[in-house]
Amino acid sequence: MGVILEGKPVAEKLEKEIKEKIEIYKTKGIIPNLCIVKVGENEEAEAYAKESTTRFFSRIGINVERKNFAENVSLLEFQKALKELEKNNKVHGILILRPLSEELERQKAFRFLSPDKDVEGITYENLGKLFVGEKCFHPCTPQAVIELLDFYKISVEGKDVVVVGRSISVGKPLSILLLNRNATVTICHSKTKNLEELTRRAEVLVAAVGRPHFIGKDMVKEGQVVIDIGTNVVEGKLVGDVNFEEVKDKVGYITPVPGGIGIITTRVLAMNLLKAVEKNEARN
Ligand code: NAP
Repeated sequence: MGVILEGKPVAEKLEKEIKEKIEIYKTKGIIPNLCIVKVGENEEAEAYAKESTTRFFSRIGINVERKNFAENVSLLEFQKALKELEKNNKVHGILILRPLSEELERQKAFRFLSPDKDVEGITYENLGKLFVGEKCFHPCTPQAVIELLDFYKISVEGKDVVVVGRSISVGKPLSILLLNRNATVTICHSKTKNLEELTRRAEVLVAAVGRPHFIGKDMVKEGQVVIDIGTNVVEGKLVGDVNFEEVKDKVGYITPVPGGIGIITTRVLAMNLLKAVEKNEARN
């Protein structure tokens, strides 16, 4: 059986670093503070905010405040509120629950977020800096993959890496992060021809598809490193994009779902928030 790349020890290592930083801030009278912004009702996003972020953040000493808007909030009102949050130096980072209302999504209102408080790396400024390889906030899930690879000392330099999925929050930024680390990256998507041929060729295969058990035994090869980003709920159970049971004996290394990338992602968000605190301190 392949080596299971558990997310827990990676998360624990990051958590230790996060707690140490929080203690230092505490001695200076600073409590890191995240503002979660929500528009209308959004049960799925709310569950994410409550379960992973708020619970974990409260446990480690990060304050979480909320700003809720009605579904029919206008773009102008929303922009004004984001500007106020930008000026408020007690708010260090802002997390916008997506999707927003239909209208605000259409207007891409989340892009009006201050890049200095954009702890999810979703603004054009942060994405642009990521593209050119400058220091910036990295989107949390792609960065979680990098943290996992680093923890297990898996270098991607010069390797054939195949990323299945090209979303702007996961597949694309991750591909750039891997390219910036000198991987030879192939990005696949729903229009890719001969997908199986490409995934089988990879030394490192990343699945960010959003389809339960999409990657089966015929799509992987012996010795391969398989990173499963997928989080799909099937009959009330969380399953990945990779058919773990089917491929685990064939590949060299594999992340489980749950217990793989997901648990690292919240820690990356906390690390980003602490970077935002540093930026805030430098400004004031
Ligand atoms: P998404 O926006 O739906 O993107 C899915 C990508 O997969 C698209 O690029 C799509 O291609 C591609 N795709 C779909 N069907 C395909 C097929 N048959 N063959 C090849 N490519 C195909 O999803 P996402 O937001 O990137 O999320 C991906 C997965 O990661 C989901 O399971 C999500 O729940 C999970 N996720 C996990 C975390 C975490 O912390 N672990 C965080 C975020 C997301 P096209 O572009 O051509 O449509």
